[in-house]
Amino acid sequence: MTSDNMAEKLKAASIAANMPGLDDAHGGVVPPWQPATTFERGAGAGFSYLRDASPVFSAAEDILARLEGGADALLFASGMAAADAVFRALPKGAHVLVPNVMYWALRAWIEAHHDEGALEVQRYPGDDMTALEKALRPGATALVWVETPANPLWTVTDIARAADLAHTAGAKLAVDSTVATPILTRPLEYGADIVMHSATKYLNGHSDVLAGALVSAENGGFWQAIRRVRTMGGAVPGSFEAWLLIRGMRTLAVRVARASENAMALARWLEGHDSVHQVLYPGLESHPGHDIAAKQMRGGFGGMLSFRVKGGFDKAAAVARATRLIREATSLGGVESLIEHRAPVEGPESPCPDDLLRLSVGIEDVGDLKADLERALA
Ligand code: PLP
Repeated sequence: MTSDNMAEKLKAASIAANMPGLDDAHGGVVPPWQPATTFERGAGAGFSYLRDASPVFSAAEDILARLEGGADALLFASGMAAADAVFRALPKGAHVLVPNVMYWALRAWIEAHHDEGALEVQRYPGDDMTALEKALRPGATALVWVETPANPLWTVTDIARAADLAHTAGAKLAVDSTVATPILTRPLEYGADIVMHSATKYLNGHSDVLAGALVSAENGGFWQAIRRVRTMGGAVPGSFEAWLLIRGMRTLAVRVARASENAMALARWLEGHDSVHQVLYPGLESHPGHDIAAKQMRGGFGGMLSFRVKGGFDKAAAVARATRLIREATSLGGVESLIEHRAPVEGPESPCPDDLLRLSVGIEDVGDLKADLERALA
């Protein structure tokens, strides 16, 4: 892999679509797939065993590090495995702060670490930096976790402010940037230490790979501890999944742009719809996090939105079942639009209202998406 000045300066779209040097050996315009689990000693490239590193992982990690502007990146078997590695790398009993609104399964998992005594986990409101400041314990808090925009209300956290506060207290800041993607936000530029992605979502974009990723601003001790968790725990993807992820990332910029455009159009249209009483989308002026989103998201507000229907839980369930083009399924970030009634998924601990429908907006024709929703809402 060459890493010349020209490649360093490329814009995100070019980084993902065309990485010079991906196949120096043959001149292929796509990277080669190398499936080996073990590598001959002294062979030159320095690889030894797939759980440590591989040429395909390195190619994907190099793209990710450049997309996020980080010093290094690591692939994982899933987004959960990536996030889990960050928490496992902390000292036993460390105080960590997690937002009230975040991907529910990750919160449940981190709080299980708390219940087992491995960490001291405390929640804070992700959109209230005064509350974050109060919750931080200088010298004791090890990590502040941020998700922005955050599932499923798309709560926006001011990354620069959160990073400042965390650093002043001696804590690291990690950002789950799955929904924003490096096309719209690069958290390291705002002072974050670690960026996490469920690469299952937008980075891959085709709903056919489960993977996760971390990108670090620095190659220091905490990052080495995370690397050790991955190598020893072995939560790496298969090499073909890593190769598919590279293929997905090559179209990341165009998919994210199109999904953001479609989501903005649907959000505006739903806001005026008689059967809808609230639309949650950071691109709308009515969203409480709009001003901060406008500051830290560039070129769009992403493909995720939620809306609340008049008629409560049963009406929301019926609308999710009634769409046709938009499939009723969990997950997000694929080229196909998905709808989900979130409250029954997230359970009683969730801040998600009963009547909320989450839309992962894909790249279909926006007129077709509106027609499908119109019919389902009726
Ligand atoms: N973070 C966010 C924002 C997610 O939406 C998800 C999955 O839905 C995850 C993390 C977990 O990722 P994975 O399903 O790849 O383990």
